[in-house]
Amino acid sequence: MRDVVLLGSTGSIGMQTCEVIDARRGDFRIVALGAGGNRIARLAEQAAHFAPRAVGIAAAGHEDEFWAAFEAAGGADRPALICGPEASAELSAVKADVVLNAITGAAGLLATLAVLDAGTTLALANKESLVVGGHLVTDRARPGQLVAVDSEHSAFAQCLRGGGRREVRRLVLTASGGPFRGRSRAELADVTPQQALAHPTWAMGRVITINSATLVNKGLELLEAALLYDVDLDDITVVVHPQSVVHSGVEFFDGATIMQASPPDMRLPIGLALTWPERMAGAAAGCDWSEATGWTFEPLDSQAFPAVELARRAGRAGGTAPAVFNGANETCVDAFCEGRMGFLEITDTIARVLDEHLADGHRGDAGLSIEAVLAADAWARRRAAGPAC
Ligand code: NDP
Repeated sequence: MRDVVLLGSTGSIGMQTCEVIDARRGDFRIVALGAGGNRIARLAEQAAHFAPRAVGIAAAGHEDEFWAAFEAAGGADRPALICGPEASAELSAVKADVVLNAITGAAGLLATLAVLDAGTTLALANKESLVVGGHLVTDRARPGQLVAVDSEHSAFAQCLRGGGRREVRRLVLTASGGPFRGRSRAELADVTPQQALAHPTWAMGRVITINSATLVNKGLELLEAALLYDVDLDDITVVVHPQSVVHSGVEFFDGATIMQASPPDMRLPIGLALTWPERMAGAAAGCDWSEATGWTFEPLDSQAFPAVELARRAGRAGGTAPAVFNGANETCVDAFCEGRMGFLEITDTIARVLDEHLADGHRGDAGLSIEAVLAADAWARRRAAGPAC
């Protein structure tokens, strides 16, 4: 029996994790659930169903609403309820075999750090915490403690079993290209949030879906891959693969490339992260080889989609620059979804804020601290908000 703490349980990854665990109640037990506070009824239903010891809500003042929904959902044994901004970090210290962090955005950073400090295995969907914290996160992790949930990074971990670390020439990071693949920059000027939210191959939360349309998500994944697998940013190639069946691969120094393929279904990497290094039987369906099919690969158009090169720039600068890249983006995603910003302004604004940050005495990794990272994140959000927001 493996005890699991699930942070971000009401979101896309959280719900799929519940599904994976629900089908294996003899092997897994959810001991704590956490969420932001926007979907209390869903959280209460999960609590009634899984009977965890503790539940956390990041927003304060939801106690009455939660208990009413818990009773309405037929909940019996009341869990300990923690409400407030410290909730996720407190849940991260609950004794468990694995904590799956599926919080969205930089808000997941303190939980990531708390899990690593508690010594528990961290199944990480919340890539932003890794990007923002950088080496402050990886240096805290003991070997094997940090396991990727992102399908691309799960693919890297699987492919890296195919050769020695010194034999790796480069990582091949696949991208679906999002809903606007093939468009020029000019053709992106008037796209709407509704169009950007219609991802062709994956059903995901709002932020990552917009990030997939701008390719900011691929920029975050580039930084995530460099940190997780200690690979130089210049040795990671992004390639557009619209079918989202090949989830990424590793090219070795003899010219061999090993790639991982499976239909787009997050239950496979979620399951693998919960049981790593072993595989979870029946986690998801495999490819259908009875039908004629084609997988295509094409280079990324960095003129129309500059986000990956912006992320590479932030990663090369190191220190607080990745936190600035991410913080500016999170602000722009909100502004775009609320109709206060155009689609192209998202990456234009990230570029402007990053330029400003790097011109202003940026010190790289020297003396980096969590306080500096959080300050840079807050600064980037203010600068990105600017007059347009
Ligand atoms: P969602 O927006 O669907 O869900 C986010 C979850 O985080 C919700 O449970 C939300 O709670 C919770 N949350 C938000 N803010 C806070 C906070 N301050 N403290 C605690 N909990 C909070 O996102 P996704 O599930 O799509 O993505 C989650 C993470 O996984 C992201 O980092 C994303 O990049 C990554 N990821 C997602 C994939 C996917 O297929 N969806 C694939 C690969 C990676 P509430 O409901 O109350 O708002």
